[in-house]
Amino acid sequence: MGAIATVWQHAIELLLPSRCVGCGAGGTYLCDACLGRARRAGPLAFDPAARAFDEVTAPLAYEGAARTAVLRLKYAGLRAIAPSMARPMAEALSSASVRADVVVPVPLHPSRLRQRGFNQALLLARPIAEAVGLPVRDDLLRRLVAGTPQVDAGSIDERRANVAGAFGLAPGADAAGLRVVLVDDVLTTGSTLDAAAGTLKRGGARSVHALAFAREQ
Ligand SMILES: [Zn+2]
Repeated sequence: MGAIATVWQHAIELLLPSRCVGCGAGGTYLCDACLGRARRAGPLAFDPAARAFDEVTAPLAYEGAARTAVLRLKYAGLRAIAPSMARPMAEALSSASVRADVVVPVPLHPSRLRQRGFNQALLLARPIAEAVGLPVRDDLLRRLVAGTPQVDAGSIDERRANVAGAFGLAPGADAAGLRVVLVDDVLTTGSTLDAAAGTLKRGGARSVHALAFAREQ
């Protein structure tokens, strides 16, 4: 879908009555009942020594209405659903008492951004930042490699090698001393968030808290 098509689709979305992607209830894109029923992601077992991020939060399991919400946002261009998805993310961030200075969305490669017309992580990051009173910094990180890294298989070392070099700091960007909340839509293996967090850390970031809407389990 081209950028112009997504602009039109977004305009049409705003004219049509909203419907919950989980149950079809009117007046919202993801209703409180569906969010309340959604299974919470269990505690995440990861080896902190093997990850560049310091903590990770993903409130929901990637299934049911949560999965439908992600797919509609990313692949059907339903941008208006992003604030409803951001709400449980902001709540999880607040309950985790995360100390942070900035909210950084995981960037898309420019070619993917042109193709999709928007960065879903940025659409999530904006309302999260507003809810927790922090600035969004989408000018720090750049995605250098197009395409999804093949991270489904292999050891941690192999997965990291796959995404190494996937991100870089933007020219002139300064992450020194920043405590970052790094936002993405779905946490799968964690390799993408790990690579982005590693780039921020090498740029001097003091801490990186990874935050995703849902986690594959
Ligand atoms: Zn619903």
